[in-house]
Amino acid sequence: TPVVRKQHLIPKAHYGGRHAVTMLPGGGIGPELMGYVRDIFKYIGAPVDFEVVDIDPTVDNDEDVHYAITTIKRNGVCIKGNIETKSEAAYVTSRNVALRNELDMYAYVLNCKSYPGVQTRHKDINIQIIRQNTEGEYAMLEHESVRGVIESMKVVTASNSERVARFAFEFARKNNRKKVTTVHKANIMKLSDGLFLETSRRLAKEYPEIEHNDMIIDNCCMQLVAKPHQFDVMLMTNLYGSIVSNVVCGILGGAGLLSGRNYGDHYAVFEPGTRNTGTAIAGKNIANPIAMINASVDMLEHLGHHFHADLIRAAVDKTINVDRVMTPDIGGSASSTDVVNAIIGNIGH
Ligand code: ATP
Repeated sequence: TPVVRKQHLIPKAHYGGRHAVTMLPGGGIGPELMGYVRDIFKYIGAPVDFEVVDIDPTVDNDEDVHYAITTIKRNGVCIKGNIETKSEAAYVTSRNVALRNELDMYAYVLNCKSYPGVQTRHKDINIQIIRQNTEGEYAMLEHESVRGVIESMKVVTASNSERVARFAFEFARKNNRKKVTTVHKANIMKLSDGLFLETSRRLAKEYPEIEHNDMIIDNCCMQLVAKPHQFDVMLMTNLYGSIVSNVVCGILGGAGLLSGRNYGDHYAVFEPGTRNTGTAIAGKNIANPIAMINASVDMLEHLGHHFHADLIRAAVDKTINVDRVMTPDIGGSASSTDVVNAIIGNIGH
């Protein structure tokens, strides 16, 4: 029988009614956004204690990253910004990828729901993107076979294709979604994407109440910008997931709005949806704090703190949709701290 992810198997550090959660601020705007999350958590008395781990991007060894991974294994849950890898040496791998792989977080979920208060071309979009998060084009296996010829391996396995497809269909069933669309390029990558597509088709038969279709990635991008309402749950490999996530974030209001969740069988990591560092806007009090605040709401939900999650979510919705206090990236003129203060002012109202 296939392994089905069960939330209750995830160990969560819990001491005296409070949860311990690893916080990785990362680079760029990460630290200031984490500061806002802490301000809001303090204001509402959220029963969460953060174990903060700073990772030095200029160091070539991975000691900090291993320490961070150890704390996530202990706590079970993490909230993170984007960790920078300053070294361009080919042997130094992306720390974000290393962390996801080490924790075997094979599924990524991006909740793409429109905010009525944000002016966009398309209204009322409600798409869930589910992305394979640990292999595919991110295998990081590249070499120069002969001078001037680089080979890069895309690794697709039956087991990971099955795990993420099952995750997508279980997600659809649990959340009462109607359709899963597998996105691929199996007409060209017949073996790798072919396996991914075939696996999702096979699993779809176990979920007769959920419609399943598939779409080639190029057409998918065109359909997304032209007719996004046809999509419900979308399932795809790693790199397509990264690109399509950015397309959908662009349609809904940009990098500062949506949050993403990384899941494995044991651990969960929450972060802004497009995983940007935002180096150019750091320290200017203009970064949109919403994506990280949404990540913190996802984290509270995951921990079972629904009351506190609802408090923040309702305050964010009112701030954007009713009061229209927003940063410039989504059409407002407020600073980051104006937005955070407005959210705090709206809590419980
Ligand atoms: P780098 O790692 O060099 O910073 P990146 O690929 O991570 O690059 P960014 O430049 O960080 O991408 O982000 C892409 C765009 O999104 C930039 O224009 C950035 O200003 C914007 N952006 C990212 N996060 C936010 C945010 N929270 N609020 C407003 N704009 C944001």
